[in-house]
Amino acid sequence: MTFNDNVGLDTSQVQSGGSGGGYSSGGVGRGGVAVGGIGGIIILILTMIFGGNLLGTSGTSNALNNGNDVASNSGSVSDQFSECKTGADANNNDTCRVIATVNSLQNFWSGYLPKYGQNYTPAKTVLYSGRTASGCGTATSAMGPFYCPLDQKVYVDVSFYRELTSTYGADTGALAKEYVVAHEYGHHVQNILGLLGASQQDPQGANSASVRTELQADCFAGLWVRYASQTTDAQGNVFIPNITDTDIKSALSAAAAVGDDHIQAQAGGRVRPDTFTHGTSAQRQKWFYTGYSTGDLNRCDTFNAASLG
Ligand SMILES: [Zn+2]
Repeated sequence: MTFNDNVGLDTSQVQSGGSGGGYSSGGVGRGGVAVGGIGGIIILILTMIFGGNLLGTSGTSNALNNGNDVASNSGSVSDQFSECKTGADANNNDTCRVIATVNSLQNFWSGYLPKYGQNYTPAKTVLYSGRTASGCGTATSAMGPFYCPLDQKVYVDVSFYRELTSTYGADTGALAKEYVVAHEYGHHVQNILGLLGASQQDPQGANSASVRTELQADCFAGLWVRYASQTTDAQGNVFIPNITDTDIKSALSAAAAVGDDHIQAQAGGRVRPDTFTHGTSAQRQKWFYTGYSTGDLNRCDTFNAASLG
């Protein structure tokens, strides 16, 4: 989707995780909870952290402090993202595109969730390069974008977009990239709704809670796309004037690219449904499209769906 050239970007919704550095996070070395990545790239490591205390262990706050230190060492947020002021910048620069997408997503969810009796709490996206500290352990670009429920932040290294097209085979359309961010905010919404815990108890398999969680995040991404053309900046300027069939095709190509069966086959291995964590390409497309075509949160109930395919 192409952003309205004149829409204003709110960089306070993101923060810089810096670049490169050899720092590591505190306290989560025993095994972070890398939750909600975009594809089968992330290995879920079950620990007591998730089951025991979602909202703060000393390890978590150490990690958070490290993150803040990194941000302040690399300059203020306004310096970091000074090139990202308008939708025109978002159309030309992947970092600015993530910011515009985050702005549109959060504007959507703040208005949408109350219709279902829930309030949306904003979540920041940490933009980093190489590696950075997260509340779920050290984030590295090899992990791909993910959501950390422990600090309630999304982590994105925009270099992933190159892999999304070259390694995984998504097309180069804008909505392919934006879908990735929307999927991660889907996990944040799941966290708000209390739906994230199940995947930790049942982390893999074709019908596992993990797959159901990931497909629901795809469905939530589709909900945003459905209403994205109604999202506005603080001045009332629309973020995305319209969504085309080509945009939807791009989102579906990204959803297919990060399907478990596709990733496993592409890596040269056998397709093993018993190890699925995110669902097949077809399932990911189906659930994205369900959210997009219905616009109804209740239609994204993957946990009670008789069939996922
Ligand atoms: Zn995910």
